[in-house]
Amino acid sequence: MSNLTDISYVKSVLSKHGFTFSKALGQNFLINPSVCPKMAELCGASDSVGVIEVGPGAGVLTNELAKVSHKVAAIELDKRLLPVLSETLSEHDNIKIINGDVMKLDLRQIIEEEFGGGEVVVCANLPYYITSPVIMRILEERLPIQSLTVMVQKEAADRICAKPGTRESGAISAAVHFYSEPEMLFKVSKGSFMPAPKVDSAVIKLHIRKQPPVDISNEKMFFKVVRAAFSQRRKTLANSLSSGLSMPKQEVTALLEKAGIRTNARAEEMTMEDFARLANAKL
Ligand code: SAM
Repeated sequence: MSNLTDISYVKSVLSKHGFTFSKALGQNFLINPSVCPKMAELCGASDSVGVIEVGPGAGVLTNELAKVSHKVAAIELDKRLLPVLSETLSEHDNIKIINGDVMKLDLRQIIEEEFGGGEVVVCANLPYYITSPVIMRILEERLPIQSLTVMVQKEAADRICAKPGTRESGAISAAVHFYSEPEMLFKVSKGSFMPAPKVDSAVIKLHIRKQPPVDISNEKMFFKVVRAAFSQRRKTLANSLSSGLSMPKQEVTALLEKAGIRTNARAEEMTMEDFARLANAKL
């Protein structure tokens, strides 16, 4: 049985297929044996819940997901890993490897084709260079999934999970909280990867909401306001909104007053309710 956390085994399969790590593709493979079983257990995959994985790499997480789920569809961009995966995952018959870019493929169609109307979760050790775009794409498209359990850099995890209105929050926190309830699961040290990255990581789980947590009249406006508010972090909210929404400062002040928000507030003090009132007032 192939042991995908045995460094010498993984190295020998990779070198047999002439594979060398690409930094540009965020290729840091997990070698800590306790991480993947834990992710597979916590992501909600089961006999009746399928999994979409992004970036299987050499298949270490895929292997664990295939043990707990009836089916895994794994999307890998790097063609060089296809023969590696055929070898490392040969014991499973419930894995479909899809070669392509997760940012370009039609994910809704893949879910429909691979899982029919069945329940699906996403579970992945995401390539760090596209962490936020992948998460936001999956959330914004409102794909029919229950949750996303993803490994991201620790700093990104803190920002994603930060409650809007708290010091660490940013535009991504507000966007993520709009679509989901984030949960910090566990931290993973940089020594758990090959090659080791410069920073530690964390696994987070985003539980998809059925309803947004705030009442808004226009979703586009809500996100426009959030983006504008955080567009210039060092400036006050009023100044950022003025440039981000192309509005004269006086109008912004009137808008903030109409929404019941202090005119000298800072973006990171804004709760989801504050953003919702502001977006509704702007319409
Ligand atoms: N799951 C493996 C693990 O945990 O060891 C590998 C994780 S590694 C951090 C990220 C993986 O995503 C790599 O295999 C990389 O080739 C792949 N990848 C990078 N960009 C991608 C993209 N746009 N679409 C799909 N996969 C991508």
